[in-house]
Amino acid sequence: MARYTGPVCKLCRREKQKLFLKGSKCHSEKCPLEIKNYPPGEHGTGRRMKFSEYGVQLREKQKIKRIYGVLESQFRTYFEKANRQKGVTGENLIKLLERRMDNVVFRLGFAPSRKAARQMIIHKHFLVNGKTVNIPSYLLKAGDVISVSEKSKKMDIIHDTLRRTKDNLYPWLLVNKAELSGAFNEIPAREDIPLNVNEQLVVELYSK
Ligand code: SF4
Repeated sequence: MARYTGPVCKLCRREKQKLFLKGSKCHSEKCPLEIKNYPPGEHGTGRRMKFSEYGVQLREKQKIKRIYGVLESQFRTYFEKANRQKGVTGENLIKLLERRMDNVVFRLGFAPSRKAARQMIIHKHFLVNGKTVNIPSYLLKAGDVISVSEKSKKMDIIHDTLRRTKDNLYPWLLVNKAELSGAFNEIPAREDIPLNVNEQLVVELYSK
């Protein structure tokens, strides 16, 4: 699966918002957004951003894609799936993205970022319900349990990240730090997901 490999901090500066793409650096004073809170590029400081309605919708879509690390074609597929489901399309979209295995590994505190989670999943460090899954986009169902594979239980990155992560930050996830496992108990309600985006703008963009 193709993915963005350029400098990720530029993406946050473009959106003028922390997208939390770099693990612990995002929470430190080394985060470039703390120092340079203006868009990248030669004219970044002087540029006055005034977006059209289309531009605002487009930026919001880019922001969501960047947070979850999903490229356009895959994002469009999620949108179409969300649109076919019952309920509010925008909310369905976010709930689908939240079910991605790389997102859940990150939220459980086993990886410092979604990007790191993706790499670790590809290298077969995690099991779902006891079976190895190496597909970062694998969609979890309510009741699924992610665990660290036996060979990976001593990995520093997992223990360091867990140490820095507060216990059970998200009501739909239950982490067992001693067992190195975590349950995806239910699909979260949109209002429980800490995500500062307006997904309705994406629905409007794709409905044109
Ligand atoms: Fe974004 Fe994290 Fe880089 Fe800060 S450190 S700009 S939050 S990716």
